[in-house]
Amino acid sequence: MGSRRGGQNVNKTEHYGKWFLTRVKKAVGDYRMIEPGDRVAAGVSGGKDSTALLYILAYLRDYSHLRFELEAVMLDLGWGEVDFEPHREFCRRLGVPLHIHVRPVAGIIRDKEGMNPCKLCGKLRAGILNQAALSLGANRVALGHHLDDVIETYLLNLIFTGQMKTFRPSTYLTNTGLTLIRPLVYLPERVLSGLTAGKGFPVIENPCPYNGRTKRDEMKAVVTELASRYPKFRERFLSGLQNVDLENLWEQRRPGSVADAEELRTRRSAPEPEASGGARRERGQHGDAQDPRRAAGEPGGSAEGTS
Ligand code: SF4
Repeated sequence: MGSRRGGQNVNKTEHYGKWFLTRVKKAVGDYRMIEPGDRVAAGVSGGKDSTALLYILAYLRDYSHLRFELEAVMLDLGWGEVDFEPHREFCRRLGVPLHIHVRPVAGIIRDKEGMNPCKLCGKLRAGILNQAALSLGANRVALGHHLDDVIETYLLNLIFTGQMKTFRPSTYLTNTGLTLIRPLVYLPERVLSGLTAGKGFPVIENPCPYNGRTKRDEMKAVVTELASRYPKFRERFLSGLQNVDLENLWEQRRPGSVADAEELRTRRSAPEPEASGGARRERGQHGDAQDPRRAAGEPGGSAEGTS
């Protein structure tokens, strides 16, 4: 049986289990990721996660109550020769138009020795993908980030930048009017690996020389270790992100914050002994610890990009 709208090979009776679709639909619903009439551009690297994302979105387009249009965008970053033909065929079967953009990102990264290659790569790829989405008339960009990515990004930020944050399931970009959506954030990575292997989806191995040698790869090992010791670790982490106990978070202090400016003014105008006590009170009154979105992890980039 073919699809109800669009693709010819998203078969309702053959799909790999059903429970993961329920989770994706829940994430989409919880964060209102897709509205009627949306045009979604899926960023597809060719890896297992984004390929699975494309399949799942095509399935939702064809068989769920969601009404949206779907396009796929792939980037050739110039790391080496890549065969896109299997993905062309995959998209044809799904009934999803595929757009491949060739950009010399690898060359730019090689020329910027000393910079964090993944951070630079992430910024460049995001810019190219967003421009491609705008040129297609899309209003949403779907990314294949899953629950393991959420946790790894949190750990990267905590360990390397000293901040408790990760990316959000849905982020509106004021500079482009696009909304980034991550429908897979409730799914562990192993579900996507199983789906891709079980259905025989095409997968492009990332030819980038930095692949497998990043800080993110180190965090992946940490997550794997924690989950092997504590089997419910991933689920508890997800639950923790949605149940931040604001009462027990510390008062916030950031360079350049209102609290810091108040502290500086107080220090300048008051005799030394009183200043410190007054400053502490000011931080308590004006600090932004009560902003749940910040506590739960505002966007603003991870410590390192993903591939
Ligand atoms: S490993 Fe991934 S994010 Fe890092 S430079 Fe290579 S392609 Fe870019």
